[in-house]
Amino acid sequence: MDAEKLSAVLLTIEDRRSWDARAELARAIELEQVARDLGDDLLAARARLCQINMRMRRGDVAAAAEQIWHVHQWAVEHDARQLLARTHLIWSAIHLHLGDAEQGLEHAVLSVELLDDESTEHMHVWHRTKLADALYFADDMETARVRYAQAEEIALRAGSPALLCMLNNYAYAESCSGNRQRAGEVVDRLQQLALDWNTPLEPAFLDTIGSVQVSNGQYARAEATMQTCIERYAEGQWDDANAMAQYLVTLAQAQRGLGQHDEAQASLDKALQECRSRDLGESLVRAHREQAELHAARGDFAAAFTAHQAFFKVYHRQQSLKREARARTRQAMFETTEARQEAERFREQARRDPLTGLHNRRYVDERLPDLIRTDPALTVALVDLDHFKQINDQLSHDIGDQVLVRVAQVLTREVAAACSDGFVARMGGEEFLVVLPGTEVPSATAHLDGIRLTIRNQHWSPITQHLPVTVSIGVAGLVDAPEDAQAPLLSTADSHLYAAKHGGRDRVVSGTGLRGCIGHPSAA
Ligand code: GH3
Ligand code: MG
Ligand code: MG
Repeated sequence: MDAEKLSAVLLTIEDRRSWDARAELARAIELEQVARDLGDDLLAARARLCQINMRMRRGDVAAAAEQIWHVHQWAVEHDARQLLARTHLIWSAIHLHLGDAEQGLEHAVLSVELLDDESTEHMHVWHRTKLADALYFADDMETARVRYAQAEEIALRAGSPALLCMLNNYAYAESCSGNRQRAGEVVDRLQQLALDWNTPLEPAFLDTIGSVQVSNGQYARAEATMQTCIERYAEGQWDDANAMAQYLVTLAQAQRGLGQHDEAQASLDKALQECRSRDLGESLVRAHREQAELHAARGDFAAAFTAHQAFFKVYHRQQSLKREARARTRQAMFETTEARQEAERFREQARRDPLTGLHNRRYVDERLPDLIRTDPALTVALVDLDHFKQINDQLSHDIGDQVLVRVAQVLTREVAAACSDGFVARMGGEEFLVVLPGTEVPSATAHLDGIRLTIRNQHWSPITQHLPVTVSIGVAGLVDAPEDAQAPLLSTADSHLYAAKHGGRDRVVSGTGLRGCIGHPSAA
């Protein structure tokens, strides 16, 4: 499979509403491997996000929360706009799961703001739908309605299959917000559309329709809807294990409304059976509540009271399970944030010299090429301690270390004073690199000679007793390195340093030969 084909296959997972999240997850894992074999990081990230989405759909929010950081980070770093838009959509869902309506809304807004001409039609419809859902969660049904309407209009114009799902969510939100009449209108549009398109509605959509019909007192229609729903569910392959029990409860509600108490009880018994055999908490709560209602409808208030007690018990158990699940997700998110910060610290440490705290050669290799490319007035200098071996030999290695730390401090301070975006790095041993952006060689040389004097004039005797501490400095600017590359620039600085050593140490050499020499013969 080539990259183009793979991209098209991924798009079918990204933009389609599949009911078999388990199969899609396995498929997305395979596709990520294909992308990795192709060496295509964007496709791999897309396949990864598909997996995360499927994990969400299967209820494994903690795993989704743990994995989404990497994809998000990658999308930000590589400016992958469409991927980022999709990532924000999943972030939104994770936050809503955590009960954080504000964050959920924030991410949903971003997922819409990032849409552009490159976004697929599905994204235009679906991201607006999810934004509307988030607004409903945030208790702003009025604004949600505006977004649902936008999504509906776009979907209608494009004939997008996402329209069905969009209307389902819209009806659900209206219904949960207590707007029965509006919910009824949306549900009617949904049913009409299914007829027009000659598309059988998914059981989940039928359940929404049935529930709205129950709440509007349309019990006969609701009963018919739920019978169709249950038949369709039994025929098909749906990975939502919770669903049958839910549908049976909605059916029981419709039957109770029709006064068919025995039928309602039979549906409810089946629902309870489903719940017990599958350990379905959420549905069990609904089933117990409906049981209490049904007893009451029959006039058996003692039984209704007992059923109500049972309802409260499972309700509280379910709430605490939910809290635990949320805590797990929060923990997963926290741990990944921690891990990222840890990695960041490690990254930073890997670019620092542990003795002096200065940047190291790796840092130089990362920063210098850019500076060379963009700053024609860049000057660098190699600073090497004179006769440092003597300090180690005559005093101790430990004293040598103290001298290195002190020299590093002076260099840092003086370089910062000379050039605000300059920096110092320890290149190894007793050799340092000074980098002075925007400073031509003559003025850099003058600064460096000042630094040389400051080092020699430090009050060294408490550390080194009688031994002086001086440095030799080799300077190079880009004029000295016509290829504008790091290696010739440093090599020029190095030969100037060599000249400084041979000229007697404790001096600065720049330009060619010793002519640019400033300084004095070494006192040592
Ligand atoms: P020159 O003036 O020619 O530069 O002479 P030098 O003695 O400074 O140069 P040489 O390269 O002969 O010796 C450098 C010494 O620096 C040798 C090594 O033991 C010492 N050195 C390198 N790294 C460290 C360190 O981290 N701590 C200490 N204390 N000494 C170090
Ligand atoms: Mg030396
Ligand atoms: Mg040296």
